[in-house]
Amino acid sequence: MLHAIGIDLGGTSIKYALIDQQGNFLFSGKISSRANESAEAVIRQLVTAVKTVQDYALRKNCPIKGVGIGTPGIADATNRMVLGGAENIKGWENLPLADIMEKETGLPTLLSNDANLMGLGETHYGAGMGCTHVVFLTVGTGIGGAIVIDGKLFNGYANRGTELGHVPLIANGEPCACGSVGCLEHYASTSALVRNFIQQYKKIGISFNSNEVNGEKIIALYKGGDTIAKKCLEEHCSYLGHGIAGFINIFSPQRVVIGGGLSEAGDFYIDMVRQQALKHAMADCAVNTTIMAAKLGNKAGSMGAAWMVFSSIE
Ligand SMILES: [Zn+2]
Repeated sequence: MLHAIGIDLGGTSIKYALIDQQGNFLFSGKISSRANESAEAVIRQLVTAVKTVQDYALRKNCPIKGVGIGTPGIADATNRMVLGGAENIKGWENLPLADIMEKETGLPTLLSNDANLMGLGETHYGAGMGCTHVVFLTVGTGIGGAIVIDGKLFNGYANRGTELGHVPLIANGEPCACGSVGCLEHYASTSALVRNFIQQYKKIGISFNSNEVNGEKIIALYKGGDTIAKKCLEEHCSYLGHGIAGFINIFSPQRVVIGGGLSEAGDFYIDMVRQQALKHAMADCAVNTTIMAAKLGNKAGSMGAAWMVFSSIE
């Protein structure tokens, strides 16, 4: 059985695991990422993580095929570089990360954007299993995503594309973190839901601090019959549904997989999103599409990273 090291690098933590071809975790660990220190500090952590897994694999006699790393920002998989766009890690730009890691660890190393690898993981081991055409969205602070066509990631020319959270949704809308206005992410992320909820309550003279409201709390209030939570969640599903309808019309996927905290709220949430998406998609484009919640939780990124290794390294 072949094994790979899957690493999910984030602004707050680094998750690493030894994963076999069937997606079983033989060993895993997690460390707080020193993302606000420097790129060098994060690289040292990645090397330590790989060596920790290597030691384990050696003791257990597991041959390692390679290392897959999911990183925030734009990863040019062809040139094995992190180009930039990872605001949550200090100095994380113009970095030949794959080469550095190979030199330090002696293992073949590949990298890709973190949301892309989550989508790849869900496609091959999770909610997209059995499908070749999948659209994956992770809805959280922002909206990330991945497009899988014929079982492989579609990244656009030179890996510059598939920023699914930044498709324009509202012409002349509010400013988005990316520098444009009216993006899907700005209206349909969990942060947007929280922002809307706080604004709506403010209108009736009730102030909430942004750190006392989150998606989970809004879901709980929705279930309890809170009318403002209901209105906000319905608006959220409408925005997200419009975005998904667009992706269905372009890609006609077999599956749309929705990850992130809200997707774990229960079937009612996915039902609401599905209803909106199918209302706005063209029926002929949506005929083969099922919309469902992600299945792998926070393991999706590492599993996608391992799949990338199994499918790309000879
Ligand atoms: Zn944007």
